[in-house]
Amino acid sequence: MEAKNLIRNGALLVTAALFLAAAAPSAGQAKAPAPPPPDAAEVPPGPLKCVVCEKTGLTGTIYRHKFGLVCDQCRPLERTCANCGIPMREPGGKSADGRAFCKFEFATLVFKQEEARKVYDETVLDLRRLLGGVLDLKFTNLNVQVFDVDYWNHRSGRPVAETMRRPGFAQTITAGREMKHTILLLSGVPRDDLASVCAHEHTHLWLNENMPELRAMEQNTIEGLCELVAFKLAAARQLETQQTRIRRNTYTAGRIETLIAAEQRHGMFALLEWARRGTNAIADDASLAAFSAKNPPRPAPSLVSPVPAKAPPVLNPAAKPPPVASLRLIGLFLTPKKRAAQVNDQLFEPGDVRRIQLGEKIAMVKCIEIRTNAVVLSVDGSTNHVTLWHVGR
Ligand SMILES: [Zn+2]
Ligand SMILES: [Zn+2]
Repeated sequence: MEAKNLIRNGALLVTAALFLAAAAPSAGQAKAPAPPPPDAAEVPPGPLKCVVCEKTGLTGTIYRHKFGLVCDQCRPLERTCANCGIPMREPGGKSADGRAFCKFEFATLVFKQEEARKVYDETVLDLRRLLGGVLDLKFTNLNVQVFDVDYWNHRSGRPVAETMRRPGFAQTITAGREMKHTILLLSGVPRDDLASVCAHEHTHLWLNENMPELRAMEQNTIEGLCELVAFKLAAARQLETQQTRIRRNTYTAGRIETLIAAEQRHGMFALLEWARRGTNAIADDASLAAFSAKNPPRPAPSLVSPVPAKAPPVLNPAAKPPPVASLRLIGLFLTPKKRAAQVNDQLFEPGDVRRIQLGEKIAMVKCIEIRTNAVVLSVDGSTNHVTLWHVGR
């Protein structure tokens, strides 16, 4: 039987301008002036210093890059980082296919197959924690491959247009009832960016498994859904730069914003159900509302272990707490002499034991500790403590 080859183009999580930079510079090609970097660094106090040549006391025209200031002598340098475009006097390192990368990010780039596989596996694990397994694949014998830019030139016997180049591809081959998935990832992509690409491509594979063959969904919406999953992951991992980047890229023709808003109203489950069982090309409120009625949106758990003064996870999804889903930290009362916490309708000081109705039973809840942003509880004498975080300031 002939294998059906479903190739749905993958992410463009890296902007086009950045991708032109990633391509091997061809001879005779005029060098376009680099666009202003999106996230300019804060100017540090003291004398101004160029991060490229390290000259201090800069005057005249100074350029800002996300990694720092660049002087007017370094700015026109021919050699630029294949990822971020900063001019370079000496590269921080090179890939096997000759791309040169800056010293600022070379150490964060992923080149090896095993390393890329690990990034993918961690991504899938976090998506499971985040979405409760709704994005799990049925066919899990999946192949993760890393490719260099040369790949484009060998693929079809002639170079592929630069605008067609992507940091990732998802491919599903269907033979009979079996599916075989492959994810192709560009080498030399920073680890956090690669995780976003993995989330995006993984969603393509899920859609390949779950969307009926005749389902006509708008292409920008398909890409938008994949970006939305990457966005959710970045939000749960508290990666601000990734979130900004996903929102800013023009790959989904603006669908990402529509879908972020739709997800907030109706939840991820409704969107995925709509992808699977809906009939219209673009998700609308009425059809999403019908799917979300069965499974209303819930606040996503955080994937970041608590650090002081950071945004709070509600419950650690990895731990297996007693039936405490209905425990709520209502407020913390902190004075220099006294600490108290209101949990449901009870007020606790450290050491207090109180009875709280949890679902159908009454639990004995003991307050172990009150922190500035959380309360630690033991339910029914369990040593598996429950930490409730104070949300918001
Ligand atoms: Zn300089
Ligand atoms: Zn760079």
